[in-house]
Amino acid sequence: MDRITGSSAAAPRTPEQRLADVRVRIDAACASAGRDPADVTLIAVGKGMPAERITEILALGVADIGENKAQEASDKAVQIAELAPDLTPRWHFIGQLQRNKARSVAGFASMVHSVDRLALVTALDRAAASRSQPLDVLLQLDLDPDPDPTRGGVDPPDLAALAEAVLGVEHLVLCGVMSVAPPGVDAREAFDRLVGYSQVLQAIQPSAHVVSAGMSGDLEAAISAGATHVRVGTALFGARKLASEHRP
Ligand SMILES: *Cc1c(COP(=O)(O)O)cnc(C)c1O
Repeated sequence: MDRITGSSAAAPRTPEQRLADVRVRIDAACASAGRDPADVTLIAVGKGMPAERITEILALGVADIGENKAQEASDKAVQIAELAPDLTPRWHFIGQLQRNKARSVAGFASMVHSVDRLALVTALDRAAASRSQPLDVLLQLDLDPDPDPTRGGVDPPDLAALAEAVLGVEHLVLCGVMSVAPPGVDAREAFDRLVGYSQVLQAIQPSAHVVSAGMSGDLEAAISAGATHVRVGTALFGARKLASEHRP
């Protein structure tokens, strides 16, 4: 992570500069992978940041926000709608989700990246019934060879059954896969596996092509593996004060 924050040690970088830096990284990764940058959506991860900071990034042209805590996200969705009524960002819920928060999340989110169990499919479907549009969802995979139940994600062998469950409900749209590179594992190798599971999913549902992967420290590896959505917090907003409370 020093590679990211170290470059900004000399003078505080403005939001414009940080966003430009991230766009340069995305463009360079796309160029070396022979990909079109228009095919990679930048999600600004605003967890731990006040609504004002997120509004600044939105005003610079970012259209997608990610949050990992239901209460914090729904509060900020209201605040940002008041601060900047003309900006209508897409909200991505990227954190572990409890069933009893499904209703709140279905109220503001465009896409939930962290569907990882059958009980959550049922809860989100019920919650999404009152929306005007169905809710887009991604299946979060646990890529850790040594799975940690506190981190979230479905074990790869259970992916197909979870996909069928989403296809079997009325108010959810199955859009793809998401993961976080496990600690101590080469990110590129992990993201290559994720893209393999994306292909397994697309054999079941051809339109489910979204691959949400890559954060501030590993977005290049994700883009070269084929990510369609990168989730970037620190590189856009600087270090979070309560980093320990906002781990993925
Ligand atoms: C916090 C978080 C990110 C962004 O992490 P950074 O390293 O700050 O870019 C991405 N994805 C998830 C799931 C997160 O919780």
